[in-house]
Amino acid sequence: MTVGYTAKSMISASIGEPECTACGVCIDEGEPFFYSPNYVTAWFGINNKYHVEFKMHFYDYPTPSHQFVIYLAADMCPNECIMYVE
Ligand code: SF4
Repeated sequence: MTVGYTAKSMISASIGEPECTACGVCIDEGEPFFYSPNYVTAWFGINNKYHVEFKMHFYDYPTPSHQFVIYLAADMCPNECIMYVE
């Protein structure tokens, strides 16, 4: 199946740490996803901003290539914990 995405301006993406079961599906999509330092949860990578108080990780203004990965991972995440704002 081919999935197409229309290029929009993604303002931010986030991952909800409490909901993440570290299944590895998003990590299989590659950057910008990788394991967190505690190896329990997954989170956004190189440009993340860390908001401990909400137990969520925000990724502001991802590049177009990263946006594509985020769309795919959000679609594939079994726990629906990857969200984004356009
Ligand atoms: S796909 Fe969802 S539940 Fe699985 S590791 Fe990624 S964020 Fe966590």
